[in-house]
Amino acid sequence: MQKGSIGVTTENIFPVIKKFLYSDHEIFLRELVSNAVDATQKLKTLAAHGEFNGSLDGLKVSVSVDKEKGTLTVSDNGIGMTAEDIDKYINQIAFSGAEEFLNKYKDNANAIIGHFGLGFYSAFMVAKKVEIRSLSYKEGAKAVSWVCDGSPEYEMNEIDKADRGTDIILYIEDEEDKEFLEKSRIEAMLRKYCKFLPVPVVFGKEQEWKDGKYVDTDRDNVINNIAPLWARKPSELKDEDYLKFYHDILPGQDDPLFWIHLNVDYPFTLTGILYFPKIRNNIEINKNRIQLYCNQVFVTDSVEGVVPEFLMLLQGVIDSPDIPLNVSRSYLQSDSNVKKIASYITKKVAARLEDIAKNDPKNFEEKWNDIKLFIEYGMLTDEKFCEPAMKFALVEDTEGKFFKLEDYRKLIESAQTDKDGNVVYLYATDKEQQYSYIKAATDRGYSVLLMNGQLDVHFIGLLEQKIEKSRFVRVDADVIDNIIPKADKKEADITPLQRTMLTTVFKSQIPAIDKSEFYISFEAASPESQPVVITQSEYMRRMKDMAALQPGMSFYGELPDSYNLTLNINHPVVKRIMEDAQAAVGSRVEELENDLAAANAAIKAINDAKGDKEPDEEQKEQLSENEARAADVRKQEETVLTEYASGQDRVKQLVDIALLSNGMLKGEALSKFLQRSISLL
Ligand code: ADP
Repeated sequence: MQKGSIGVTTENIFPVIKKFLYSDHEIFLRELVSNAVDATQKLKTLAAHGEFNGSLDGLKVSVSVDKEKGTLTVSDNGIGMTAEDIDKYINQIAFSGAEEFLNKYKDNANAIIGHFGLGFYSAFMVAKKVEIRSLSYKEGAKAVSWVCDGSPEYEMNEIDKADRGTDIILYIEDEEDKEFLEKSRIEAMLRKYCKFLPVPVVFGKEQEWKDGKYVDTDRDNVINNIAPLWARKPSELKDEDYLKFYHDILPGQDDPLFWIHLNVDYPFTLTGILYFPKIRNNIEINKNRIQLYCNQVFVTDSVEGVVPEFLMLLQGVIDSPDIPLNVSRSYLQSDSNVKKIASYITKKVAARLEDIAKNDPKNFEEKWNDIKLFIEYGMLTDEKFCEPAMKFALVEDTEGKFFKLEDYRKLIESAQTDKDGNVVYLYATDKEQQYSYIKAATDRGYSVLLMNGQLDVHFIGLLEQKIEKSRFVRVDADVIDNIIPKADKKEADITPLQRTMLTTVFKSQIPAIDKSEFYISFEAASPESQPVVITQSEYMRRMKDMAALQPGMSFYGELPDSYNLTLNINHPVVKRIMEDAQAAVGSRVEELENDLAAANAAIKAINDAKGDKEPDEEQKEQLSENEARAADVRKQEETVLTEYASGQDRVKQLVDIALLSNGMLKGEALSKFLQRSISLL
């Protein structure tokens, strides 16, 4: 018998372990089973080097609980340990430098476990006493036991043990740890952490339903799949295998769209399979669906820091022994290996997408609308992804045709370059609502893109930055003649008096629409073009879109929507309205305009006369007199024109039609329009 003290300077390390590891103490099982698996793997390595000649058949790890005795046992038939091994690996090494380390990483339990090989000691998180019973593979080795009750003292004895390997027996006494004596709890933990370990992990026997209850069969209940798909060669695998694996690890989902089998061994080792799920709607829903493994041991499904942010939308598994799994997140993010891994994954994903886009364009187009959100998100958040993605990202036109960005530019370049040499990309966000604008543009020979995705507002901004000399304009941002300004554009030929008259005549007939404001403008379009068009400037609309998306820009959100009501003065109906107005009230308005001009001239003369000085009494009086006169004339003018316009069904009808084609005619205004339309028949 040997008695001794574990090589640790801290008075009693176990309470520390227990305390720090409390939050995720279930990982003790992962640590013990991993050690057991390692012990069997080492036997294979020894055999490969000719240092072990026995049979490698039947290597396995068994886990069992005995509720009555209050024990949980992890057994393996791996290499085992001699008394010297235990001395070396369990008694000495484990705690060397532990004190310093504990002080440094006090708040990170995982770091304590992993970095200093405290894996075995995590058993004390749940056990009062731990016993090792082991027989080494070495010829003539004597079986040995080691017992430690949580104080730094241990006891070692020679024992009888017939079979090679190690049993780790946990004596679980504390009430709060009794859950680890429940079979269902242990099975669930094994399924979580050990599902893909490379050696069979057995937990009791498979059960079957017989005579009204479950009974044990004689088949081992094997928890794991020892050759998970990602560890196999891609060339051996079929689509069905990938689909089946996907549904195995993430039950209850639609088929994935594509997948990527990662397989690299330099400059780091990484394998895995990432799936593109259908992510049509909610970004949040599918996050944290990537499981991280370390040599087939499940570690975590929160992969922030390892996988680039946008790739968190993907699902599947990543396995790498090179990711430092047991350290804090902030450490993880600054780890150079992790950074390399993240950028490798990004590159791989981009390359795979490029490959599909190139070799299977039809498939890629068909699935575009499902993966678009993901790709746009990636392009917006990751420069390294954006660059290659510019080559395969698609845009869709309003007719449902898809184009690569480069091809699309070639297509529209000649017709859609404005006078400043910018290529104008026209887009619509709603095919139905913006139908008339889309039609006006396509009739003109322009192409219109459909940009109705969740991220398209931002994506448009990105494309404008990335594509040289480009500008995106929504089809309803202006009348067709202005939307892509050309050098030879004709200005509207109209006198100031006509302008004044038409402005008030039309403006006065626009029904009140909540939070909306209208300006009247004039356009010399062709007589066949629409007589009246309502547009909203690209700039204002984007500001409002942005305001809706981000807090802190509420200033723009509060502003009313301002629209342009543009009159085509070459259209026969508009022409006629103008002529009619001229005939009916033209001379009266002209008189008033002359009056107004006289009043304004008087004001100007007084201001000129007084120069920089304060006005004297007489000047003051004259100023206010003339200002009152001007205001009065303006009011009269407005009254004359409004009264006139209110009798003009044609004007009302034109305004309402323009509103209607913009989806803005509602309620009472709509019902009035319908009545008027009928009476006009
Ligand atoms: P780590 O596994 O990180 O080295 P542990 O504290 O878990 O740290 O284990 C320390 C050492 O004890 C292991 O490296 C191994 O040599 C030995 N060991 C632990 N469990 C077993 C086992 N089941 N069979 C053989 N050796 C073991």
